[in-house]
Amino acid sequence: MKTGPTFPIETEALLVPSPGSRFTITPVLIQNLRPDELLVEIQYSGLCHTDFLLRTGHLPNVTYPCIPGHEGSGKILAIGPTVRDRTLSIGDSVLLSFTSCDKCHHCSAQSPTTKCKLMPPLNLSCARHDGTTGYTALDGTPVSGHFFGQSSFAKIAVVHELSIVKLPQVMKEEEMALYAPMGCGYQTGAGTIMNVLKPSKTDKVVIFGMGSVGFAALMAASQILEVETVIAVDLVQGKLTLAREFGATYTINAGTEVKDTVGEIMKITGGKGVDFAVDTTGVGKVVQDMIACLGQGGTAASVGAPPPGVKIEVDAGTFFAMSKKWIGVVEGEVWPVEFIPRLIQAHKEGKFPVDRISKVYPVMDIERAIADMESGKIIKAVVKF
Ligand SMILES: [Zn+2]
Ligand SMILES: [Zn+2]
Repeated sequence: MKTGPTFPIETEALLVPSPGSRFTITPVLIQNLRPDELLVEIQYSGLCHTDFLLRTGHLPNVTYPCIPGHEGSGKILAIGPTVRDRTLSIGDSVLLSFTSCDKCHHCSAQSPTTKCKLMPPLNLSCARHDGTTGYTALDGTPVSGHFFGQSSFAKIAVVHELSIVKLPQVMKEEEMALYAPMGCGYQTGAGTIMNVLKPSKTDKVVIFGMGSVGFAALMAASQILEVETVIAVDLVQGKLTLAREFGATYTINAGTEVKDTVGEIMKITGGKGVDFAVDTTGVGKVVQDMIACLGQGGTAASVGAPPPGVKIEVDAGTFFAMSKKWIGVVEGEVWPVEFIPRLIQAHKEGKFPVDRISKVYPVMDIERAIADMESGKIIKAVVKF
């Protein structure tokens, strides 16, 4: 006879009590599991900028308190009866990524699922597909969760089946720490380069903002695709020094050394501009610079989320005459189940050395982890649950 878990299940989550408040470790109850969901014991979760937007209250339609987290890694504890991947077993190591509607033509064709018509509401509103939540406080008050189909800032998470990325075997503890950010930050940077822009070895590429997304883009360009000219731009010298070690051929410190970033990129490219540009910062001025430094036929990809209301100025005539393109890319336009194993393989071959950019913090130290990430002391913080 098959027995499932008995609800409610008490666990602990790192929740945001109200917009603008700090993350707080709080006991919560998991009230139920839908047939298309799994329970996952979270081992690690990466910290990503979108979690901070939930904390500051910058995401619309979220009811507080809520549980953030969307770069989880862990082990399967329970499997709902209609979960379609019958190869999944209790105890399997899994990484967690975004969810999608599973019904529109992009979802049906996996073409990719990041173009799902319901991508923003399903992933950012901190609720199940039908708007409900499976979590409450101990007194029964609802707690929002299911962020990106996973809310991985908890010891046990209710995960939608489409957020599950099964790993080829049970992974070691340190691998679960290392690979947790694959499901958002790393696939976003690497997917933008490998799946969307696809530069050839002789194309010229510039990456603005050397956080974890920028480093993933740099590794994909310089080490996986072996692009010969990759320019890294940031404000923190330590990150640029590290970018050189990862294959950046030129670096520009836009904070102190160089006032005219576009002019500097033009100098490096012999006045021609770049073929491909990626912005991970979402800063309006940087997006403008990214479009301005494109050469004939170049494509600029916005990957970092700007705050609400940001406007930019573009010289429309030059944009047209030079046949420039500016695109938005969400989650690298990848299908995580297919793409993440490729990145893990690249890591094993030494071409995606993410072990050199992340640091693990105990969950109690989350505020220190955020401060270290925001000051540029570290590139990627991963919290251990
Ligand atoms: Zn869809
Ligand atoms: Zn993210």
